[in-house]
Amino acid sequence: MKIGVLALQGAVREHLKHIELNGHEGIPVKHVDQLEDIDGLVLPGGESTTMRRLMDLYGFTEALRKSELPMYGTCAGLILLADEIEGYDEGHLKKMDIKVRRNSFGRQVDSFEADLDVTGIEEQVNAVFIRAPHIVSVDDDVEVLSEVEDKMVAVRQDKYLGISFHPELTEDIKIMKYFIEEMVAKNK
Ligand code: GLN
Repeated sequence: MKIGVLALQGAVREHLKHIELNGHEGIPVKHVDQLEDIDGLVLPGGESTTMRRLMDLYGFTEALRKSELPMYGTCAGLILLADEIEGYDEGHLKKMDIKVRRNSFGRQVDSFEADLDVTGIEEQVNAVFIRAPHIVSVDDDVEVLSEVEDKMVAVRQDKYLGISFHPELTEDIKIMKYFIEEMVAKNK
């Protein structure tokens, strides 16, 4: 499978490594025409407002709103996928019927780690949260895969996967495996 990682800003290399470790081809995506050559796309963590600015500049906002590719967003990438962002007039790509709150674990500590149960994945997942968003509300057709401190942190809607934390900053390649094998491969 060929899996692209949106390579405008953020933790790109780490996701590419997790794709390769799962035995698939990882492609840094810097131009919209590369979207034609991939089977799925990862939206990495970073800073969502910066990414949005760069996506507008390089034509990705429109291309990705129209795209039918399966997508997996981590942290800032989750914010990009959300239909609504608390305190903002409009979402970015609006692929998932969810509302998110930015920097919602940021008050007590900037970052923390936890081992989480995630529906669809057999063993616990090692999760690193960095100024992470959480999902405030979801529509009926969104499946909640994981929660921490009563906050939703992993959701799936059809071919879109949104995760508050950063699996790519750990050795844990199970969520990438789930995205590629359960979502991208089955979408073909
Ligand atoms: N706080 C960032 C944002 O709102 C997300 C943090 C991250 O991706 N680690 O875009």
